[in-house]
Amino acid sequence: MNTHIIDGKALALEIQDNLLRRVSQFSRAPKLAVILVGDDPASHIYVCNKAKAAEKVGIATELFYLSPVLTQDALIAFIHDLNHNPNIDGILVQLPLPKHIDSDAVIESIDPNKDVDGLCTRNLGRLFIGKPGIIPCTPKACMTLIYKACPNPDGLNAVIIGRSRLVGKPLAQLLLAAQCTVTQAHTHTRNLAALCQTADILVVAAGKPDLIKRDFIKPGAIVIDVGINRNEDGKLQGDVSFDAVNGIAGAVTPVPGGVGPMTVTMLLENIVDIYEKENKQN
Ligand code: NAD
Repeated sequence: MNTHIIDGKALALEIQDNLLRRVSQFSRAPKLAVILVGDDPASHIYVCNKAKAAEKVGIATELFYLSPVLTQDALIAFIHDLNHNPNIDGILVQLPLPKHIDSDAVIESIDPNKDVDGLCTRNLGRLFIGKPGIIPCTPKACMTLIYKACPNPDGLNAVIIGRSRLVGKPLAQLLLAAQCTVTQAHTHTRNLAALCQTADILVVAAGKPDLIKRDFIKPGAIVIDVGINRNEDGKLQGDVSFDAVNGIAGAVTPVPGGVGPMTVTMLLENIVDIYEKENKQN
């Protein structure tokens, strides 16, 4: 079997073209506020990449670099100001936050209508009960890639490795809504290989390089690799090596060039959607 590589970068560019077209109809540029607390170099790179991607589709970004010793109360007060600022459409707080700050409290302080990451309890709750809301970017990216490889996932078995609030849990809801039979695996799961062999769709979001071996894969399965790991040479790699799935899987996303670029694109799509929704109401 030929294993198809799902090109997340190309799909991301296609969607970005469409976003640019939508934004060009707006009376002003949608604006994203990005908050970075502290000086974590990786977070710095992520934030700059998001700002660059936003600019390409006509979304304005305002970056706020805040002190690593900022208190939680001061950060929440800062977010409240942005919540009330009519020129800001979306607010993103780059995680992780310094240890003295409770990330959950900070996420909850974002106006749910401006919560571009879709991670506050109202947006996650709406996803859980099947109501429209803002959908977290990485799970949304996974679904878009799954639909690209398999336009009708109705009735398929989906196995997700990972149960985080950021990826695994919201993705399970999206796959259920797409009529899949969903199983969620995690560190306590027994016989992971046998479970994965049942998967028509296997999403791996563990953050463990080479977790997936050849005998985990059901012939023809769609494999979505969310993991981001750095190998000894500093190169990015996922949780799935291409060699492990080549010739067995029907399709696989590469790392880099799979879920990563699509996640950034889903963030942009969320901002454009928020702008449209809010400006229709006014
Ligand atoms: P996390 O550490 O919060 O969660 C990892 C999950 O994987 C946990 O639920 C854990 O139970 C499970 N797990 C870990 N090892 C396992 C094992 N050996 N067997 C079975 N289950 C196992 O991480 P996260 O935030 O969900 O992110 C997961 C991975 O995805 C990380 O590598 C992260 O960097 C990456 N990520 C990528 C993007 C992207 O845009 N491409 C976005 C978010 C996260």
